[in-house]
Amino acid sequence: MSDWIDITRTLTSGMIQWPGDLPFSRQQYLEISVPGTGNVSEITTSVHAGTHIEAPLHFLKEGMDITEVALFKLCGPAIVVDIPQARDVSIEDLQSADIQVGERVLLKTANQYLWEKPEFDENYFAITVEAAMWLVDHNVPAVGIDYLSVDSYQNHNHPVHHALLGNGVIIIEGLDLSGADPGHYEMVALPLKIAGSEASPGRVIIRRLVSQKSLPKERKQ
Ligand SMILES: [Zn+2]
Repeated sequence: MSDWIDITRTLTSGMIQWPGDLPFSRQQYLEISVPGTGNVSEITTSVHAGTHIEAPLHFLKEGMDITEVALFKLCGPAIVVDIPQARDVSIEDLQSADIQVGERVLLKTANQYLWEKPEFDENYFAITVEAAMWLVDHNVPAVGIDYLSVDSYQNHNHPVHHALLGNGVIIIEGLDLSGADPGHYEMVALPLKIAGSEASPGRVIIRRLVSQKSLPKERKQ
């Protein structure tokens, strides 16, 4: 079995966040140096900080909250699709990828370079509505992207969120896919179990699937 790859962004004060969101912050309020205590921290944060998972309740009044999302949506076979061009993810990108039935789809885009900038960049790459509908039509359990929204910044009606969440496709945003080559994986993505919340930061890890079919091919190279 191959090693797990952590595709989670580290939560840290000053990290890039969605404009207007409560910033992530951690304060330590007990110090181990004081006799009789340990180190104890508290955090304040938007639930949309860093790598986070979104439930239907984010945009659907009667939608499921994050505690109600079925774990199979977030854990199981996944594919990393590479879209290195500086543009939104199109239906052609999905059609030409080797997406298998039942796979969760992780979109590795040129967004990864935006995390090196000091500020949020509103010209990030998102998913087109047509591509979102393709994901719905193909019963994709969950879709992940490597910046802070599946909708483009100018799309104030959030059509991609509505298309995905309205059809039970769970959204993972803020992934770090820089260390993941395109291909097939097993994924575990777990949000915190926050009652009534529309989203939660999560820990997302993947590991390569070594299929019987691919072994001889690799040996030949
Ligand atoms: Zn979102």
